[in-house]
Amino acid sequence: STRASTRLATPAWITMTSSRNMSSGSGLADIDPSRVEVTDHMLTIPWNVVSGWGVPKIQPYGPLALDPSCTVLHYAQTIFEGMKAYRHDNGKVTLFRPDMNMKRMNTSAARIALPTFDGEALLEIIKQLIRIDKDWIPKEPGHSLYVRPTLIGTQKAVGVGPPSDALLFVILSPVGPYYPKGFKPVSLYGTTEYVRATPGGTGAFKLGVNYAPGILPQKQAAELGYAQNLWLHGPEHYLTEVGTMNMFVVFKKEDGTFELVTPPLDGMILPGVTRDSVLSLARQHVPGLPEKLVVSERPVTMAEVKEASEKGRLVEMFGAGTAAVISPVDRIGYLGEDVHVPTGPDGMGPVSRPIWKELVGRQTGEIKSDWSVEI
Ligand code: PMP
Repeated sequence: STRASTRLATPAWITMTSSRNMSSGSGLADIDPSRVEVTDHMLTIPWNVVSGWGVPKIQPYGPLALDPSCTVLHYAQTIFEGMKAYRHDNGKVTLFRPDMNMKRMNTSAARIALPTFDGEALLEIIKQLIRIDKDWIPKEPGHSLYVRPTLIGTQKAVGVGPPSDALLFVILSPVGPYYPKGFKPVSLYGTTEYVRATPGGTGAFKLGVNYAPGILPQKQAAELGYAQNLWLHGPEHYLTEVGTMNMFVVFKKEDGTFELVTPPLDGMILPGVTRDSVLSLARQHVPGLPEKLVVSERPVTMAEVKEASEKGRLVEMFGAGTAAVISPVDRIGYLGEDVHVPTGPDGMGPVSRPIWKELVGRQTGEIKSDWSVEI
């Protein structure tokens, strides 16, 4: 390979004096999760095919200067990540399983011929950025700082090829809880007109190119009165993902055993950090889970879900992702009818409730675990 090494240069800190601290009256309690508020600083690291990774810079948040011919603007040479930093009562700040995001970002980069990097080194620089803007992390329960690393191809060229230049940047955005007033189950539109991912496609990577085509289907689902798309695949209508979340279904078998099912990582599913955490907690059998519970990564069809719903064997269904953590589902519009999905009085079900409690406990540090990484 003619590519430069993945080694990141030693950071040269540019210390800024600006301090646009958040006032307590900023209305954070009812922040819309879709709203983009950003902190004072951002991190940028240039890359060039000959010289490799350049010097990381922490600088005031502001526009990037991009040449109009640069490849990201034409061929969607862009990948991103999303993770959250939490501020604890004792002032400690932690990230949740950030090593997984670094790994996934490298996998995404490799898929579209963007440069890979030393994930541990990038994480150290991201921690530095968060430390500088740590006063932006809301103190209110359920609030956090969303961390958005992005990598783009910046070669000035109209030709399609691996870029000779790239730019990695990281921005931060304070966010409120997805469900500030308790869980509100969402309705899904079983989408058969469009696909999110295909076999051999790019669904398993966090590429910008996977997201723009989902916006129109989401708008159309909303016009039909549904909150999110349930992305189905193939003539069997295999369930794949929900909006931009991984998806879980719970069935009750004839002998009373609960089965927690999520589609396998077959190339069409994004390997979610939350997905992995839910599976791991279910397999560890955290407190409160049903006594008889099996965990399956296997294909599941709409026919199976519909039949289970009709026979009273569908227990619950939920989406899982960084933004909402767990998102319960109460109905699925499918081929002109609504499939009913049970939800408990608090919106959750017997499997999602204990898992959510454990997961949020570990994220906020109330429950000790090595998933929580202090910065
Ligand atoms: N699927 C898609 C398509 C996503 O964009 C995301 C959000 N990154 C997820 C699943 C959930 O992944 P995670 O748990 O890592 O946020």
